[in-house]
Amino acid sequence: MKEWFVKKLVERTIKKLTENGFKASYFEDRNTLRESVLSIIPPGATIGVGGSVTVRELGIVEILNGRGFTVYDHWKEGLSNEERARIRKAHLTCQVFITGTNAITEDGEIVNIDGIGNRVASMIYGPETVIVIAGYKKIVKNLQSAIERIKSIAAPMNAKRLNLTLPCSEYGYCTNCKSEKRICRILTVIQKRPPETEMYIFIINEDIGF
Ligand code: SF4
Repeated sequence: MKEWFVKKLVERTIKKLTENGFKASYFEDRNTLRESVLSIIPPGATIGVGGSVTVRELGIVEILNGRGFTVYDHWKEGLSNEERARIRKAHLTCQVFITGTNAITEDGEIVNIDGIGNRVASMIYGPETVIVIAGYKKIVKNLQSAIERIKSIAAPMNAKRLNLTLPCSEYGYCTNCKSEKRICRILTVIQKRPPETEMYIFIINEDIGF
């Protein structure tokens, strides 16, 4: 029953994403998804990896490093703040940008809230190809549900992951804070594929990321 429900949800979302100009696909397993990601990347391409738990849980960074690609990964351990900032800027001009997303609507929109803005900026303009990877649980009904999902699930969990002192990382829900450390600063809704960016949306049959 669950399989049938997820299949129907993904089918209608992919139809809308396709109408909106995205190259959307559904994957039953990690290996097939990873192979598809690799098949898109041209030999010798420079690759940026956005701040995404999903992409890292799938082991994609390790695979790319293992294949000798130049990978800009600002989550690599041991980086200084200056090095992180340099890598975020390199994302804007890399050939392929791989990232997750906070939500995908059944209307075929990609919705995100960023703190710094580097992730959403690189999704919109700069890289020739953007690959967005998401577990099926990121699919929500509409824009309002997307924002609710981000504020009630993704942002509190990200604040906790980053060990930030914020109301959401303490209580587990959003208080629409006025904190200096607030991580919800930029809301983007990609309604149609940006015309100068090839954009792939890969949905996987896993409860992955947050
Ligand atoms: S607005 Fe503040 S409290 Fe709400 S999720 Fe964002 S950082 Fe947390």
